[in-house]
Amino acid sequence: MDDFQKAAARARELHRELAHHNYRYYVLDSPEVSDAQYDKLMRELQDLEAKHPSLQTPDSPTQRVGGAAAEEFGEVVHRAPMLSLANIFEDQGLIEFDERIRKLVGLPGIAYVCEPKLDGLAIALRYEKGAFVQGATRGDGTTGEDVTSNLRTIRSLPMSLFPQDGVKVPDVLEVRGEVFIRKKDFQKLNEKREEEGEPLFANPRNAAAGSLRQLDPRMTAARPLSVFLYECVPGEGVPVFKTHIEKLEYLKTLGLPINQYRRAEGLEGVRQAYDASLKGRHELPFEVDGMVVKVDDEDQRKRLGQVSKSPRWAVAYKFPPEEESTEVMDIGIQVGRTGALTPVAHLKPVKVGGVTVARATLHNEDELRRKDVRKGDTVFVRRAGDVIPEIVSVVLSKRPADSAPFEFPKHCPVCDAVATKDEDGAIIRCTGASCPAQLVEKIRHFASRLAMDIEGLGDKLAAQLVSTGRVKAFADLYALTKENLLTLERMGDKSADNLIASLERSKQTTQRRFLYSLGIRHVGDATAKALAEAFPQSEMLFTASLEDISRVKDVGPIMAQVIHTFFQEPQNQEAIRALLAAGVQPAAPQVATGGPFVGKSVVLTGAMTGMTREQAKEEVERRGGKVAGSVSRKTDFVVAGEDAGSKLKKAQELGVRILDEHAFLQMLQTNA
Ligand SMILES: [Zn+2]
Repeated sequence: MDDFQKAAARARELHRELAHHNYRYYVLDSPEVSDAQYDKLMRELQDLEAKHPSLQTPDSPTQRVGGAAAEEFGEVVHRAPMLSLANIFEDQGLIEFDERIRKLVGLPGIAYVCEPKLDGLAIALRYEKGAFVQGATRGDGTTGEDVTSNLRTIRSLPMSLFPQDGVKVPDVLEVRGEVFIRKKDFQKLNEKREEEGEPLFANPRNAAAGSLRQLDPRMTAARPLSVFLYECVPGEGVPVFKTHIEKLEYLKTLGLPINQYRRAEGLEGVRQAYDASLKGRHELPFEVDGMVVKVDDEDQRKRLGQVSKSPRWAVAYKFPPEEESTEVMDIGIQVGRTGALTPVAHLKPVKVGGVTVARATLHNEDELRRKDVRKGDTVFVRRAGDVIPEIVSVVLSKRPADSAPFEFPKHCPVCDAVATKDEDGAIIRCTGASCPAQLVEKIRHFASRLAMDIEGLGDKLAAQLVSTGRVKAFADLYALTKENLLTLERMGDKSADNLIASLERSKQTTQRRFLYSLGIRHVGDATAKALAEAFPQSEMLFTASLEDISRVKDVGPIMAQVIHTFFQEPQNQEAIRALLAAGVQPAAPQVATGGPFVGKSVVLTGAMTGMTREQAKEEVERRGGKVAGSVSRKTDFVVAGEDAGSKLKKAQELGVRILDEHAFLQMLQTNA
């Protein structure tokens, strides 16, 4: 066997092994290996595929990250129409459903299957020769949207069927199921969004639906979706099932994850299942809003058929909403880590679905306006996704005569800085640089590599410094003493010395780094550079008009507004003055007028031993050069460090001048 054959054999083995572990994890719910061991196998396969790209087949377990974004979704015509279930809400509806079926089938008692009704999104999947090839949403029932790339990112969905011993895989298999988000994953997803300053999802269904319909599969990959299958379209090679349960078990033997189910005899059996399901709804790891009742016998189903777009043989028996009414005692504003101001209703405590609720989020200003919740209102509260309590509606008839709409504050309730709207208009944020609510994040950014580059000041230390009250503003960092630091947990003598030294070092900085370190929204490193050139001293920005700022290269109107507001805020001016007073000396950018780099386009590739890529970039730019990402005919020099790859090759092909590290350093020195 040659190298490639060996690699191909091992890749096949890894496919099987990974499929087996997925099956244990998602279908049987009893993993055999730890997550770390699983990841190790995955990495081995990724390495093999990197070496031999032809091994990277579409059904490889590595192909979950998804390809490029689509302009729009293609259409998929379903082989058999995708039906949706009729809803019933009370026992009377169930009695009528059962009666109708008994009459049409002509039997005194019917066997049913009951499944928890997931609050998700229906999907149709197609496997050919055991490989997942296409997936679509329900759409109008006849034609859905092609969301194949997005479905590939769902880890519980097998890329290849994983048949158990003796089970034959049909050439073509079309299965139907539901995409949803588990409660735990939903909570984590919202926590992450909160950290990133993104609006929260109101419930798991919205999150699942929105994620599946992302045009960029990489966005979907970042969302923790799950899937259950429950139906399969008849076809060649697909067994003819006697019962629904037989079908579910067949799907399971193919390695497809299925929902839990319970067989119920007649009307009384369904009632018992419903009561049990209602009682246990909060124990399930996903949100359910009812129970699906299906006729178990497949022959009976065929005879029952369908009316319009719903089958006669199944129904969704919804749970009563877990809503309670209570009173809004007050409306407050919570300030998140990214400065987002979120309105929160403080409620007279009330039990909803077995949990006492005293607060409910109102999400954002628009949501608050839309619902027009006011202090003193009587409202209905429900728990969305079993997690977040939310206000459903206001009982207007009970509104006090003297009530007034809530006025969203124009200032941050924590630090009193001006609060402004995000460009998309959904979120209002505090603009205060020293706002304690956002301080940890701000300090972390301030110390980061492209900012003040304070080595040793990471997440944990920033959090400690803020929580102990040692640091209330950026400038407080420069007042820290070794003694102060030693009082902190897990701070050793040497680390304290090192931190003091790097703080001292960071004082000699550039205006570009300084402006970047202030953490102004939208102001990245490139904008900071342009701003520094136009405003070499920060105080100049205190008096700059909106027009002055708009004239800066690459600064658009929204950004100009944000920058202007930032430097108008007295708290921010104070923070900057305090930093300068503490000894921080931002050097104005030097405008190079001569030398070998002026106006030249430089590409950096490979690793240098004496400086980082960022440092090299800074040095070139300081001398009037421009650093580009790729080599073209317009490139003047390529600086090639160790292990330079394709860029170096391209430069050689195009005949671009190439400098090694030594030559580059010499050139910098002659033009220091
Ligand atoms: Zn604030």
